[in-house]
This record gives sequence, structure tokens and C-alpha cells, in this order.
Amino acid sequence: MRRIDLEKAETARASTMRDINRKIVLNYVRDRQPISRADIARATALQRSTVSTIVEHLRHDGLVEEIGSGESSGGRRPTLLQLRAEGVLAVGVDVAPTLTTIVTSDLNGQIRDRREFPTSSNAEKMTESIIETVKDMRRRGDARRMAGIGVSLPGLVDAASSEALYIPYFGWRNWKIGKHLHDATNLRVVVDNDANAAALAELWFGIAHAEAERDVMRDFIMVIVAEGVGTGIVFDGQIYRGERGAAGEFGHMVIGSGAPSTCSCGNRDCWEAFASGRAAVARYEKLREGKQRRSVKQSDNKNNNGDEVEMSLTHIIDCALDGEQSAITALQETARYLGIGISNLIVGFSPESIIIGGALTRAWSLIESQLQETVERSVRRGLPSSRIAASSLGDQPTLMGALSLILARKFATSTAA
Ligand SMILES: [Zn+2]
Repeated sequence: MRRIDLEKAETARASTMRDINRKIVLNYVRDRQPISRADIARATALQRSTVSTIVEHLRHDGLVEEIGSGESSGGRRPTLLQLRAEGVLAVGVDVAPTLTTIVTSDLNGQIRDRREFPTSSNAEKMTESIIETVKDMRRRGDARRMAGIGVSLPGLVDAASSEALYIPYFGWRNWKIGKHLHDATNLRVVVDNDANAAALAELWFGIAHAEAERDVMRDFIMVIVAEGVGTGIVFDGQIYRGERGAAGEFGHMVIGSGAPSTCSCGNRDCWEAFASGRAAVARYEKLREGKQRRSVKQSDNKNNNGDEVEMSLTHIIDCALDGEQSAITALQETARYLGIGISNLIVGFSPESIIIGGALTRAWSLIESQLQETVERSVRRGLPSSRIAASSLGDQPTLMGALSLILARKFATSTAA
């Protein structure tokens, strides 16, 4: 039950009803395709003529297409419908601390065109590079089909004004990327925090969606572990944002002191300082230092060439998957702290699932049991626990997140974008 908010309530005008029915029919086509008009009418209890009218509009807008006939149940064979994936193109801009990725995709999230460049710490330069790249992709793609640009950012975002309030990695404040992009392209631009965007992608394109036919997953928390730790909360099938979009900053919850790395906010007691990629790197370097001191003693200071490899989470995961013990230990210790923070989220929210995304998921086979064990031990007995799963969106869920900011709008009703 939800109390009606009289400030925001949209009364049930005929147009509101039409919009909701249109989204319901579109979602039936998306989830049950191929499907006939008669089957949609049966499943939704909408009039057959209403369904036909809506389908005509959806075909006219290029979202749905006919694909031949299905099995007859006596009379004429029904015409089947499916999503017209190539009817819409979305642009996704994923600004990560080191690399910026810009892609276009169809309505199913299949990537069509992809560009990458190193993220600059100069906000003005970044604005320019993003605009230039999008314009170039537009020239090469079909501009008429472009529905909008989604931008995913590693920081605090005011989604209503499409403005980045604060990006801690570069110290950017009030970066008006949404306005600049819109002025340059005249396209709809939606900007959000990377973890919120990834959670939205998980809801519409990931595990939550894949399992929709069995049991719709409407309450879960997405935890992104890459250089930092970010969380996006999905509550009742939509992103929970809180006041000015600042909800979900669990990376800064205090879980101890004297962490191996500093948090992006500068403190050493935040969850991020214990459980992020940076924390894993710090642990690994410390372990190798200890080992080197021992081996120097044994073999008269022969230097190890591995020292010149620039240390990154990606590198540690590669080493761990190759069986290097220091790397495995560093990742498992990081997973233990990840598990401690997750236990706090479970105790507070009791979500159906915690979904973990980001670079760390590539090491899932090495960290899963450590994670489960920590969570089982620290969630109080008798309280319901939640399922912990790796994201199905690959190791760049924030990129799919950027696309989802545009694509999900095609399917969600206006109250649950
Ligand atoms: Zn912090």
C-alpha cells in the first residue's frame, strides 16, 4: 500500500490510462515475444480492440513489428508480434575514473558502436570530448532513431537537473554535463550516479529481468565494486533516491578503522576503504613486500621484474586466476570486508537479493564462498537472509546502466522510471 502524495499524484486522466496500457502491452511483447494480439488481450483483460489500437501505435513508433503467423487454435492463424529492436538507438556514456566509454545500442541493449578514451581530470575537456564523440557517432549512425543519451557518473548526481553535484575522484563540483550535452545535440539527456544506473540496468536487463517470469525481483541492492564501492537501491521496482538523489552512499558507512587504503572521501574508516579495488591493491602490495624482503635475504637481492607492472585490480585478478597466492589472499580478505558491509545492508533492508557488479566479479569463483561465509556468520540468527549473486551484466555494468537510463524509459511507466 502506498499513501497517495497529493503534490505529485497524477489523476487518472484518459491519457494517463492510455500511457499505462501502452506500457503494459509493450512489456508483454518484450517479455513473452513472440506473442499474438489475442494472447495479450487474454492476459491483460484489455479489450481486443484496445490492444489492436495500442499495437498499431507501437508499430507506428517503430517499437513493435509483426513476424508471421503462429499456431492456430481452430480459426485463422494469429499474427505474432515482437520487439523491433533496431527501431530505437540509445547512446550510453560511462565515465569511469580512468576510462570513458561511449556506445550506441538497440532497444534490447545490443551494442552497435563503441568508442573509448582515457578520462581526463579536466571537466571542460571531458565535456568537449563527450560532445565530439557523440556527434561523430550520430553522423555515422541513424540520427533519427536516437532516443536519447544516458550518462553514468562516479559521484553524487542530481538526476532531476542532470547535473553532477560532486565527483570525488577529480574534485568536480556542479558539472552541468546534462545541459551541455542537450544544448549540443538537442537529444534527451538523463544523468545518474553509476551505481543507480547499474541497478536500473540489472532491473531491466539483468538477473532481475531474466527471472521475471518466475518471480519478479522488485527489491534488491546493487553493489558495484571497482576502484571504489557504490550501491544502488531498488525498492518496489524503482530506484530509491532519497533527498536530492543522495541515497545509497553506503560506500561511506563506517565499518572499522585503519583501513588499508583511503576512501574517495579521504577517510580511512569507510566501507570503501576496506572493500574496494584500491583496498585489494593495497593488501596485495603489502603481502608482496613482505615476501620480497624474505626472498631478498635468500637470493642476494635479485630484483623481480613484476615490480614494474602497474598495480591495478585487473592485474591482481589476473594473478589470482593464475593461482598466485598473495593475489588470492588479497582478494579474499577484501571479500571478507565486502561481506561485513553487505551484512549491514541485509540487516537494515532485508532485500530479496544483493547483486554484486563491477571488475571484482571476474574473480567470483575465488571470493564467493568467503563472501557467503561472512554474511552467514554476521546476519543474526532468525533474521531472513538475502541471496547474494554476481551481476549478469558483465564486468562493465555501469555502461549498461548508462544505456538503461534511456532504454528503461521506453518500458517503464512515468512513476517508475
Ligand atoms: Zn568515505
